[in-house]
Amino acid sequence: MSFIVAIDGPAGTGKGTITSLISKELGLVNIDTGATYRCVALNAIRNNIKLEEQEKIIASLENIEIDMKNEGGEQKVFLNGEDVSKQIRSKEVSQIVSQVSSIKEVRYKMVEVQRKLAQGKDVIMEGRDITTVVFPKANVKIYMDADERVRAQRRYKEMQEKGIQMTYEEVLKNIQARDKNDKEKEIGALKIAEDAIYLDTTGLSIEEVKDRILNIIGQNYTKKS
Ligand code: C5P
Repeated sequence: MSFIVAIDGPAGTGKGTITSLISKELGLVNIDTGATYRCVALNAIRNNIKLEEQEKIIASLENIEIDMKNEGGEQKVFLNGEDVSKQIRSKEVSQIVSQVSSIKEVRYKMVEVQRKLAQGKDVIMEGRDITTVVFPKANVKIYMDADERVRAQRRYKEMQEKGIQMTYEEVLKNIQARDKNDKEKEIGALKIAEDAIYLDTTGLSIEEVKDRILNIIGQNYTKKS
């Protein structure tokens, strides 16, 4: 039986940073589910498929293979064997990914991919519907939240560090649009699972969030030596 830590929440709550730190500390495999939807979006852009051409996006799923590997302590995302870890974070992908992930066929396929990536492993998985759809029976379920402006500020800083050209206003607008779309999705909408632990990270540092989550996990998990 594998051990599963499931974390959901909107963009910019620190889910990615936290899961990466905790996976290293506890030796859990880190699975960023947003990256799977980003791969579908990137593939559509590369093949000149427009958002309105849903049938083409659905058909493209046949030719998409996604993998995640830890290389030199860094998590890398592969689309058909190519390392696209950087490309999937681009402004263009961020602008369409939420809509791409609203297509139900895309969701069914990606949930399958995500479950397969976790098979037989002890994992920490973050996204929007992990605690509700992908692994509703996960050993630990957490919903991370934070004030919208604080989230936008964090994302903006991250973009700047990665050299991605976006203004704070653009980042805020993108986050607001994605939140709205993510919460209104017909399938896999972002919501707080009844039995999830709610964690507001607004005034907390990464270290504080990490400690709180380690504490929650610690009550259920023994680190493998
Ligand atoms: O987490 P990240 O911001 O990379 O996710 C990109 C987008 O993918 C989100 O805005 C959301 O629309 C979608 N997503 C999803 N379900 C997940 C993870 C991400 O719909 N489990």
